[in-house]
Amino acid sequence: MNAIITRFAPSPTGNLHIGGVRTALLNYVITQKAKKKFPKSKFLLRIEDTDKIRSNNEFKNNIIDELNWMGFHHDDEPYIQSERIKRHQEVALDLLENNKAFKCICKPAELEKKRNENMKKHTNVKRLCTKCENSHDVQKLKNGYVIRIKIPNSENITLTDLVQGGITVENQEIDNFIILRNDGTPTYMLAVVVDDFDMGVNLIIRGDDHLNNSFRQFYIYKNMHWPIPQYAHIPLIHGEDGKKLSKRHGVLNISEFKEKGYLQEAIINNLILLGWAPSNDDEIISLEEIINNFEIKNLSKSSSIFNYDKLNYFNCYYLRKDTNVKKFHDYSQTNPQLKTFYRKDKEKLKRIFNIYKTKINYYKELENISPIYFEENFVTKKNILLNKEFKELLKKCIILLENLDLWESIKIEDLIKNFINTNKIKFISFGKPLRFTLINLENGPAVSDIFFILGKKNSILRLNNYIKG
Ligand code: GLU
Repeated sequence: MNAIITRFAPSPTGNLHIGGVRTALLNYVITQKAKKKFPKSKFLLRIEDTDKIRSNNEFKNNIIDELNWMGFHHDDEPYIQSERIKRHQEVALDLLENNKAFKCICKPAELEKKRNENMKKHTNVKRLCTKCENSHDVQKLKNGYVIRIKIPNSENITLTDLVQGGITVENQEIDNFIILRNDGTPTYMLAVVVDDFDMGVNLIIRGDDHLNNSFRQFYIYKNMHWPIPQYAHIPLIHGEDGKKLSKRHGVLNISEFKEKGYLQEAIINNLILLGWAPSNDDEIISLEEIINNFEIKNLSKSSSIFNYDKLNYFNCYYLRKDTNVKKFHDYSQTNPQLKTFYRKDKEKLKRIFNIYKTKINYYKELENISPIYFEENFVTKKNILLNKEFKELLKKCIILLENLDLWESIKIEDLIKNFINTNKIKFISFGKPLRFTLINLENGPAVSDIFFILGKKNSILRLNNYIKG
């Protein structure tokens, strides 16, 4: 085995989708693994933008930016398919000249009629144009034709896919598809093969919705005498109801996951376990470990279920691991609301994160949690928990709090415990109203943590305002 050249070949007809990220991840992982043995291995990026109506630059930039954000850095400059049309045309003409392709003038309506007839007869014959190939007149035309690939009628093809195993398809089930339209533009089927060959791609890892295309594309390779690459068609991911993953299931584009505050490690961890498990069955797995252990041949060929709860589980795990708060810092710079809070008091925002990180699934949840801690003119609302008895106790407690030098959760917790013991009261009858006095919420983090987040001055101010009010 030699260097492995893989590619990720998205069409920029939408933002980068979670399914695309999985395809990119598998290509990236396999290539990084191969690089350890064969340093010349490469992971390439090709933007398939020949569909001018549905493609645009914004989508293209989104795909490139988000792949970088995920850390799937590609080798070489991105290949842009639309810049290579001349080369695609050259190959189509080459095939025509060498009698490996033919001109066709069939009208779409005629072909449609044949297709319907075939369907009625329940035949599996896909070939619709049967006349042009043998018509001298058609083959002599100078314009007004499409070019179709020549495929022998009687043979069959067996491809050995690294995920799907060996599959045989009868040639008659393959149409002699168009490679060049009558306006001279190449079809996807041609462009993809020419580009893969020119880029030296020898391992194609893509969604299994392209499996049928491989049997068609085989004939371009064969007719050009080009080596056939290895294939790994990976099963698509589905929602929990077994249906194709769609908006109904939740967010889909990686930008939306990023905007909510999901971490790359969590997304990678979640995606790699769809249809694969490491030998030690440890669910938490880093990219480095994946690169060392992943084998494409062990990937399941049945479709996998994308589970948002599982992603939350991983995200929660990686959020908590962010001990130096670096990732949270980066996120808060991209979130307008958290950025404002960060500017006002970054230490307070960090304290909020550290206290709440075990309770949230993703950073964006802090948008709802933080404002109460930053409210400058905070006023405690009315609540039946706040009775006279509590108010009297609170006055005594404030004095103790004022005298506390080290404003740390543990010290505050000790102080409150002692206070409760000394006054022979139950925590619930003091702690709960105390929490409410500070943040207008009956339930939430430990009171000592709330004090810690607010800081000494602000905490005592809130309590005194309540007493005065
Ligand atoms: N551009 C195609 C897509 O986005 C992928 C083509 C391929 O991987 O061969 O579905």
